Amino acid sequence: MSHERKQTIRQAIIGHLENGHLTVRDISQLVCISEKDVYHHLAFIEKTVRHQKKKIRFKPYYCMNCGFQFKNRKTFKKPSKCPGCKDGRIAHAVFWIERA
Ligand SMILES: [Zn+2]
Repeated sequence: MSHERKQTIRQAIIGHLENGHLTVRDISQLVCISEKDVYHHLAFIEKTVRHQKKKIRFKPYYCMNCGFQFKNRKTFKKPSKCPGCKDGRIAHAVFWIERA
């Protein structure tokens, strides 16, 4: 993928996140890239928008069994299972961009 293409995709993702609250799956469908690529782009976008005095905010992933919330996430990736009850049914996090 070219440098220009990456920039374009990131700008598109930023635009979508400024206009709505989206899961990684929503973003992957909107810009036609894999969910894995979305995680990768989000990490860069987090740095980019910081310079614009904006921030990626999120409603964390949570366990559908016990309600545990993954508030201390270090990445945008979906956790594979709950550390509390070991359940694998994890609800999607929702992301958006706001002025910091
Ligand atoms: Zn749980």
